[in-house]
Amino acid sequence: MRFSGMRLLREALRGHTGWGPMWRDPDPDPAYDIVIVGGGGHGLATAFYLASVYGQRRVAVLEKGWLGGGNIGRNTTIIRSNYLLPGNQPFYEFSMKLWEGLEQTLNFNAMVSQRGVLNLFHTDAQRDAYRRRGNAMHLTGAGGRLLDRDAVRAMAPFLNFDAARFPIKGGLWQPRGGTARHDGVAWGYARAADRLGVDIIQNCAVTGFRIEGGAVRGVDTTRGYIAAGKVGVAVAGNTSRVMALAGMRLPIESHVLQAFVTEGLKPVIPGVITFGAGHFYVSQSDKGGLVFGGDIDGYNSYAQRGNLPVVEDVIEGGMALMPMIGRARLLRSWGGVMDMSMDGSPIIDRTDVGGLYLNAGWCYGGFKATPASGHAFAHLLATGDPHPTAAAYRLDRFARGHVIDEKGVGAQPNLH
Ligand SMILES: Cc1cc2nc3c(=O)[nH]c(=O)nc-3n(C[C@H](O)[C@H](O)[C@H](O)COP(=O)(O)OP(=O)(O)OC[C@H]3O[C@@H](n4cnc5c(N)ncnc54)[C@H](O)[C@@H]3O)c2cc1C
Repeated sequence: MRFSGMRLLREALRGHTGWGPMWRDPDPDPAYDIVIVGGGGHGLATAFYLASVYGQRRVAVLEKGWLGGGNIGRNTTIIRSNYLLPGNQPFYEFSMKLWEGLEQTLNFNAMVSQRGVLNLFHTDAQRDAYRRRGNAMHLTGAGGRLLDRDAVRAMAPFLNFDAARFPIKGGLWQPRGGTARHDGVAWGYARAADRLGVDIIQNCAVTGFRIEGGAVRGVDTTRGYIAAGKVGVAVAGNTSRVMALAGMRLPIESHVLQAFVTEGLKPVIPGVITFGAGHFYVSQSDKGGLVFGGDIDGYNSYAQRGNLPVVEDVIEGGMALMPMIGRARLLRSWGGVMDMSMDGSPIIDRTDVGGLYLNAGWCYGGFKATPASGHAFAHLLATGDPHPTAAAYRLDRFARGHVIDEKGVGAQPNLH
């Protein structure tokens, strides 16, 4: 069933009785050409591009819970392509271009809204760094403009401009950045992949890999053994646990990241705003809630819930940036498990086990990467070669010293 205005009108006239399920609920086949482990945004996008771009039809996505239950349905929905380093910027700009046509590609309203992303700066040195990043963005066509203090004040007069400690001096503005409805992205990819014949199998946890002669032959799951020509793992915060089943230890730590939503307010935040003197970012949902977040919880965890000290730290950041947020009542908060890599950049690569591929290390920025990550991982799985925009995301770069450290902070997950 295709979605369209006409279809909506027809269903409205007959009491919405004609809508069917968005995807099938098949039992797993005994064997597939390609099995994707993890039905988050990246796994589902990979399956969609495998089928739509690379013509692969015998593909299954195995998800241990329900679609949208992981980070894809827990993030603060920010999309942007405002990176500095050559290993990153072309990849994220590729993703932004895919976002711009995503709803037409998937025939699904993922509420992609290019309302702009503003990174504030508070010192002269930070202005220089942001100017340099803005120039790097222009090299890939990502756009971006350096705003002075008056231009920022005109855009967001409610910010705390005159705080003696963190005076706002301006901001780097990417008008093409914005937000998208996070779980809608998972549903859109799932529906589109299913229509191309991909089997999406929920409540099916992978519990082991069958490896013979140095190559993967299939996976053990809670719904039985499934043979596979190739296996792609895209399990985000569970990466270290799942890859340990294949005997691998990775340069990844799992940490919780929390998100917060206030009661609905009248429109106040024009786009996405990030604090440059602390870890705090905020946008406003279409329902009016202020959606915000900050730092990861500092300890390692696989629990999808956070702790109170970080709640306090995030709220402090919000109060320093826009004191009026103290008047808003907090409605909800939740946590997701982040796969923090040691240089803050992702991994899309083959592994030492033949036929076993890895998509991981998304830290707290993997939502915006969903389309490009899926496209690049599908390219790797189908052709055996890295996608040109993801060629730097190699697993062995940590051993070779070729890290992609966007922030220049070293192996400290809380600073990436
Ligand atoms: C609070 C928060 C805010 C964030 N904000 C942003 C943001 O604003 N912008 C941005 O770009 N990024 C953001 N992120 C990061 C982004 O959400 C993640 O990087 C990205 O969603 C990870 O990829 P995914 O969607 O595939 O992960 P997930 O949705 O977590 O998918 C992984 C799936 O693997 C499944 N799985 C795990 N183990 C197994 C197994 N053994 N067998 C089968 N399946 C398994 C899990 O159940 C899960 O569904 C945020 C994250 C959080 C938590």
